[in-house]
This record gives sequence, structure tokens and C-alpha cells, in this order.
Amino acid sequence: MQPFYRRTRRYPPVKIPEVNSKEFTNRCVGTIVGFAIGDALGMPAEFLTRDQIRRYYGKTITDFLRAHQGHASDFLPSGSYTDDTQMMLATAECLIECQKMDAARQGDALLSWYLNTVPHRTPMRANMRACKHLSTGRAWTKSGVFSGGCGAAVRMPPIGLFFCQSTEILIKAALDDCIITHTEPRARAAAVAVAYLIARLAQATEKCSPGDQVLETADRVAHIDEDMAALLRWVTQITHLPPEEALFEIGCSADALEAIPAATYCFLKYPRQFHNAVLAAVNAGDAADSVGALTGSFVGALAGVEAIPQSLRRQVENADLLAAVGERLASLASSAGAQSMAS
Ligand SMILES: [Mg+2]
Repeated sequence: MQPFYRRTRRYPPVKIPEVNSKEFTNRCVGTIVGFAIGDALGMPAEFLTRDQIRRYYGKTITDFLRAHQGHASDFLPSGSYTDDTQMMLATAECLIECQKMDAARQGDALLSWYLNTVPHRTPMRANMRACKHLSTGRAWTKSGVFSGGCGAAVRMPPIGLFFCQSTEILIKAALDDCIITHTEPRARAAAVAVAYLIARLAQATEKCSPGDQVLETADRVAHIDEDMAALLRWVTQITHLPPEEALFEIGCSADALEAIPAATYCFLKYPRQFHNAVLAAVNAGDAADSVGALTGSFVGALAGVEAIPQSLRRQVENADLLAAVGERLASLASSAGAQSMAS
């Protein structure tokens, strides 16, 4: 018999539950705003260990801070997000403009980010290398590099919201976007996992169990990368552990096999408590921006924007733009699903 983390659960066909449109909008805004806030809370902790966070800031992170002097983000004011949110927003704006996943246009949006961002905000290497390929005229189907980082997965929340009504189209859109920068199986599994989990959480009813939705996500990605599926199943089994211990075991680097399980654990530990979930993520350091961002978007997708403390919502960079993008994605999501199914 296979160990539990290799076992595949069989689910009946997904029946999309009804979430009223006001609540759905609330969750779409929560996904986008929660992502940026998690990124901005993690910004000063990126690259640091737990001990270094205490040493540099005198305490654990509980609010927006400026990065310490000498940190790669020390030029940013507190409340600023990093490359993760910039690329997530580029994806959202591309979906809003094209009203579908147009991978060539998405490649242009990423290239524009690469060429026009001055200075870059601790960009991930694989994204920079892929964008360099795009800048030399390579097509989006040939620009990706063989990297297993989480740099593609972090731009998936808008895809999860936009295509939440059609799993098949969501998976295709996530994979098309992913391979523009990342081609390794674990990066592709991570991209599908983030998009799919966001879609399920944004439509979850009271009866849905977050743990079951993570297990369902694991099944959806098992054929792409069995290790990603195994790790997602495993984190559902360790939510009783305190964050320090669990995140030590999982790891919090930008490797997709660490960042996505780490954010999933923080979400499952505190599915509706935004502050607790995101602070658990960012105080582990390392890829604190990406893990914080994903955690924030998972909690925001399930619990809605009202679960996010108002002071953070007010102070985050581009607060109004983030909320507007979430609202627009919500209003396009149902028509996008219908249109995509017809085409
Ligand atoms: Mg970043």
C-alpha cells in the first residue's frame, strides 16, 4: 500500500457552489489586496533568517517596515511590494485588457515589466533570464528557462479568479503563462496549484473544508509533478505543528517545492485569520515576500477583503489600484468563463 502522501483521492466531478456576487467580489479584492500586503510585509524579511529578522528589526515583523540598511530593498518606503506583485498586476491587467489568456500579449506585458522597471525590486533570476530571451525577439513559447522557482506561480492568482468557472481552461491558461518564464515540471505544477486553489477558495461555501480543497488541488497537479502533489498532501497533515517547526521542515525558499507548500501550510494553519497567517509566513524569512504574498492571497480568497486589517489596506502601495483590479476581475470572471467555454 502506498504511503498517504502518494495516495490519490478520487473526487466526484466538481460542482461549482453558489457564492453571491457581492461576496465573490469581496473575495476577488481580498485575493489581490491580500497578495500585495503579504508581499509588502515580507519585503524587509526577504533573504533573512528568523534570527536576522529579530536582530535587524529588534522584534518579529508585525507591521509594514522599511528594509534595513544594506538590504536589496532598502530604497523602498514601508508598505511597498516587490516584483511578485508587479508581475501579478501585469498578469491581471493583461487579462482585463484581452478578456482571455493571450500568451503573446502576456509575454509583452512581462517584457515591458523587464524593460521599464527602474530599479527592479529583487527580481527572480529565472524571470529576468526569460525576459532577456523575449527582448531578443524569441517567441513566448521559447523564452522560458528550465527553472523550478516560484516566479511563475506567484502571478497566477488573477488567472485563478478569471477562469474560476472552468477548470480545463484555467489549467491551460496557467500553463501557457507559466512556460513564458518557467518550464520545469515543479514550476508548472506550482502554477496550476496556485491558480486552481485560488479558484476553489474564491467560490468556497461554509461547508467546504480548506484541507479538502488543498487535497483536491494536489490531485489536479499530480500528473505534472508528483512531488508537488505529495508535499501539498503532506502539509494538510502537519497543521497541528507550530509555524516555526512546520516551516523549518517545509523550507521557505523561492523553490516552488518549498514556497507553495509553505504558503499552503500558513493558510491552512489560519485559514481566515489574515494577520496570523501572513505573519507566520513572513517571519520565517528567506523568500518571505513570495510566501507572504501567496499566503495573503489564499486567505483573502477564502475570507474576503474584510478579513484584512484596515490599517494594512490603507497603507499598502497603490491601495486603490489593487482594489480596483480585484473588482474588475470579479466582474469579468463569469463572462470570461462563459466566453472561453464557447470558443
Ligand atoms: Mg519579490
